[in-house]
Amino acid sequence: MTAPARTPRRLESFVCGQWTPGAREGQALLDAATGDPVAFIDSTGIDFAAALAYGREVAGPRLRAMSFHDRAAMLKALGMALMGMKEEFYAESLHTGATRTDGWVDIEGGIGTMLSFASKGRRELPNTRVLVDGEVEVLSKDGSFAAQHILSPLQGVAVHINAFNFPIWGMLEKIAPTLLAGVPCLVKPASQTAYLTELMVRRIAETGILPDGALQLICGSVGDLLDHVTEQDAVTFTGSAWTGRKLKSHPAVIANSVRFTMEADSLNASILGPDAGPGTPEFDLFVKEVAREMTVKAGQKCTAIRRVIAPRAHVQALVEALRDRLGKTALGLPGEEATRMGPLASLDQRDEVRARIKDLQADAEIVAGNPDDVRVTSGDAAKGAFLNPVLMYCDKPFAATAVHDVEAFGPVSTVMPYDDIEEAVALAKRGKGSLVSSVFTDDPKVAESVVLGVAPFHGRVLIGNRASAKSSTGHGSPLAGLIHGGPGRAGGGEEMGGMRGVKHYMQRTAVQGSPRLLSAVTGRWIEGADAFYDIHPFRKSLAELRIGDQLITAKRTITQEDVEHFAHFTGDTFYAHMDSAAAKANPFFDDRVAHGYLIASFAAGLFVEPNPGPVLANYGVDNLRFLTPVYFGDTLQVRLTCKEINPRANAEHGEVRWDCQVTNQNGAVVAQYDVLTMVAKEWPPVAA
Ligand code: NDP
Repeated sequence: MTAPARTPRRLESFVCGQWTPGAREGQALLDAATGDPVAFIDSTGIDFAAALAYGREVAGPRLRAMSFHDRAAMLKALGMALMGMKEEFYAESLHTGATRTDGWVDIEGGIGTMLSFASKGRRELPNTRVLVDGEVEVLSKDGSFAAQHILSPLQGVAVHINAFNFPIWGMLEKIAPTLLAGVPCLVKPASQTAYLTELMVRRIAETGILPDGALQLICGSVGDLLDHVTEQDAVTFTGSAWTGRKLKSHPAVIANSVRFTMEADSLNASILGPDAGPGTPEFDLFVKEVAREMTVKAGQKCTAIRRVIAPRAHVQALVEALRDRLGKTALGLPGEEATRMGPLASLDQRDEVRARIKDLQADAEIVAGNPDDVRVTSGDAAKGAFLNPVLMYCDKPFAATAVHDVEAFGPVSTVMPYDDIEEAVALAKRGKGSLVSSVFTDDPKVAESVVLGVAPFHGRVLIGNRASAKSSTGHGSPLAGLIHGGPGRAGGGEEMGGMRGVKHYMQRTAVQGSPRLLSAVTGRWIEGADAFYDIHPFRKSLAELRIGDQLITAKRTITQEDVEHFAHFTGDTFYAHMDSAAAKANPFFDDRVAHGYLIASFAAGLFVEPNPGPVLANYGVDNLRFLTPVYFGDTLQVRLTCKEINPRANAEHGEVRWDCQVTNQNGAVVAQYDVLTMVAKEWPPVAA
């Protein structure tokens, strides 16, 4: 199947709430496999300053008025809607040269990333509009002056400039954390494959799920856009190091200290461990992984394996195994079932890759695949941007430069030998900073040496072995929860990484003041803030509960019988609870002490309200610390304070975090922790 030929459409930009064509017909974008025109792209006449202002003024306030949970729910609804339309995107994706597998990485990988952010945002962020960062810093002896770091959304627009190879994933992996942070986006896809991004943005706009202006799109050149960025905007860039450096040094970016995240060329290395010779599962996994990384998306992946580092003794067997495997790669039209690898994104890109192969030949010889003699199983080799997978070999990698410097952005990798593991690590580091590296080994010592050796040069390191073979997500897959980005040559940026990626679009501020006012700012109770006493707080539903509602319990004295009963009942007869002489010999204790868990259990006995009521469940504790030993005869008392309330969207309950402090008769804190409960929104429940 080929992508059906059609009348090329004129792409439009989506700015200031309007779909806007460029003033000129623009540049023709060609189908990667057939060379037929797919679309025309032009952005002449677009008012970029107005687009930025629209995002800041129209969408920003609306996004910031929503809580993290509201935004997470918005992303979930959007992700689900897009998943329901995926076949339309797959059909359009064929024009880019992507096979179904390639399209899956881009389309479902992108939507899946958005859904992951939605679910992580819901689970890992509070239902507030500001985040607290770290603990309260007490700044005065009497507790009247303290500080709390907070994170609040930038009040500008995030400009996302993307590469041609992932027209969907590249957009969604960036807009998901940005929107979750509460910041509007302006996306500029690479021209070559912008028709797929434009189609998805049209469908997103039609859902009406995002506030007006939250997602704008520029199809074509961004003109003077960067002249108008301010200190509240952010710019992210994926593409060539050359363009990245140019944009990063744009006068307005420098003058306004605009956050600039760059993800550029990366000569990712994969190392075969010395233990992983032919016949081992790791050798087979390595061959499979290298071949997969070379052929998925025709090697047009920023994370693809460019440098294959193997023990000299196994190099020949490795080259033979790879030659055999790559030789079976059916090259052809992306929609044909038999096709294993589609064309590159464009003829220009193929010319570019061929030129880079020539550069690499300064150091390396071609050992598999002919870049000039293309054989296809379907389609027309003369019209499409087809290229065979090309494996190269560099025998003296320490004397070479091109193999460590030149990125051939296609199905091209270079094998290079090492003599000991230190050499393997040194070769990986010659990439001068990469997105990802991997090592295939079943030897813990090799795993340790390689990971500790290469980690400072990489954003991600994968260890492949037989135990994770079935479940591993592989060398080349960035994941929503993990950092994507790398130091040095890879651009120095970090994307995703779960909630780390969200915080990138927020400003961290140290707020100083009295506890009462700090608590008002963060919506979180802190030591020294106002406390309220009326009925037992466990009798209050979320509709009635306030931050600062507090309970001071009755007291309870700990006896030797309590400790011995607990020890025999639970089986925890650790000597510090049972043997006075042994406890005294312990540097931390003067005598036998009560179990920490006995203290926590008695604390619960003191603070619970036993009758059926709005508190539905206790789902754990956070940050439990036992701070002072409890001896027989000590008297305990609990102070329980409502610290944070998170009503759950689309549910009849929410989460309440309680500050729980247990003190002894001298006022010393013996235990401190957060108790986590589920509490009904209404009590008694409103009849359905
Ligand atoms: P470019 O750096 O040329 O383009 C990347 C993005 O920047 C595109 O959206 C492009 O838009 C835009 N751009 C280019 N010039 C400007 C400018 N002056 N102002 C604002 N935006 C600009 O990279 P390509 O996508 O053409 O890829 C070239 C090479 O980059 C590849 O061969 C590969 O080596 C590397 N690359 C690396 C990737 C990675 O993640 N490591 C990913 C993709 C590519 P437009 O398309 O309209 O010119």
